[in-house]
Amino acid sequence: MIRFLDLYKQYESIKEEIDAAISSVIKETAFINGTYAAAFEEEFAEYIGVGHCIACGNGTDALEIAIESLNFPPKSEIIVPANSFIASGESVTRSGHKVVFCDVDPETYTISPADLASRITDKTAAVMAVHLYGHPCDMDAIKDVINGKNIRIIEDCAQAHGAQYKGQTAGTIGDIATFSFFPGKNLGAYGDAGAITTHNSELAKKCRMIANHGRIGKYNHEFEGRNSRMDGIQAAILSVKLKHLPAWTEIRRKIAGQYNQLLHGLDSVTLPVEKDWARHVYHLYVVRTGLRDDLKTHLEEKKIKTGIHYPTSLAKLPAYKYLKQYDTDMFANKSDTDLLSLPIGDHLTDDMVALVCNEIRSFFSK
Ligand SMILES: *Cc1c(COP(=O)(O)O)cnc(C)c1O
Repeated sequence: MIRFLDLYKQYESIKEEIDAAISSVIKETAFINGTYAAAFEEEFAEYIGVGHCIACGNGTDALEIAIESLNFPPKSEIIVPANSFIASGESVTRSGHKVVFCDVDPETYTISPADLASRITDKTAAVMAVHLYGHPCDMDAIKDVINGKNIRIIEDCAQAHGAQYKGQTAGTIGDIATFSFFPGKNLGAYGDAGAITTHNSELAKKCRMIANHGRIGKYNHEFEGRNSRMDGIQAAILSVKLKHLPAWTEIRRKIAGQYNQLLHGLDSVTLPVEKDWARHVYHLYVVRTGLRDDLKTHLEEKKIKTGIHYPTSLAKLPAYKYLKQYDTDMFANKSDTDLLSLPIGDHLTDDMVALVCNEIRSFFSK
């Protein structure tokens, strides 16, 4: 069986370090925020090259906290790519703002700068640049579109730990950025966890306060915040795993290269691209084919697990029917039937990757 993801196998490869880290947190009863969360914040900020990192409960909270810190007028419009996980839209609505969906680029699946230009109104407060699947958005093109307007850039880096745009690391390019450390992400905890990054010390301070009941000290609450903190066990696990992340990312990139090579020339399959200005971290390796469902079933029969990201564009979900953006001719609204995510990650051997490719080739030669 070829799993889509194998977190237990990864755990076995670093078991001693992880078990020791968990024990220390318990010994020191550093359960919430505390020394382990502070250490991880520092290490992660250094890893991506940013002034501030604020640990929080999960990637969705990170988005909500980031949006709140920007202090937009109520019911502002935030432009969100129509192909993403629901958290990208949900965080906007939950913050009292309006989601405006934007199409994605057919090559990179990230926000289309041309379509973005057509979505801007005098209520637009921000663009959510989701570095989807691990490929960065075309940030200069986004900046050109919003140039001279009072519009902020929020980077959703939930799938892009260590991705780069023209040598700049995702999470350091916009006004503020968010990360998820959901277990299945490229850097994943053993439960929920997230973080916010920014160069701006004012925004950083605001986020830290929002995430911790609006306080600086123990009981001096300057405003009402919320409770979204990282627990020490997750932080200690993340510190251990962060050390392995560069090697694990190289494995993802190597596997993507193998897929590219072994699936090259198949007419019915569109492979992902890595733009020459991008460093893709392949959270997902997503191909496109009109025979998606049959191919998925074929691979399933051969005990090869695949995924779909995402089965329905956000604009077509019941949750967003009210926006009436479902029947436009957006690429994101048409391509969702064709997307298939192949297994990728440090659990795969070269032979497994070759086997997946052979099965895909044999499916198309029938
Ligand atoms: C996973 C994910 C999130 C949400 O992160 P959680 O930690 O699960 O709350 C947000 N945006 C994108 C693009 C994601 O993939």
